[in-house]
Amino acid sequence: MARRRTPPRRQRPPSPPPVLVRVEIGPDGHEYEVRPVAAIRAVKTYRCPGCDHEIRSGIAHVVVWPVDAPHAGVEDRRHWHTACWGSRATRGPTRKWS
Ligand SMILES: [Zn+2]
Repeated sequence: MARRRTPPRRQRPPSPPPVLVRVEIGPDGHEYEVRPVAAIRAVKTYRCPGCDHEIRSGIAHVVVWPVDAPHAGVEDRRHWHTACWGSRATRGPTRKWS
């Protein structure tokens, strides 16, 4: 009686490390790199362009900057509330309410 061999386990290809930087279309139609800012890294108060409210230090949020300006200065980066960035597409009036 032949012993059944355990079939060798297929080796999964190593999954790539999670990419933290992603490219998304901003509210103006341009592509932006989006990078989450952990609460511990948020040491300054920023103003969110989405809601025009402050992002207090210690609040996790996202920072975005145009992909066609990879060497854009810190001034060119925009800090958004994560929720505001996520709903940026629906924020602007896409149709007129009369
Ligand atoms: Zn906001």
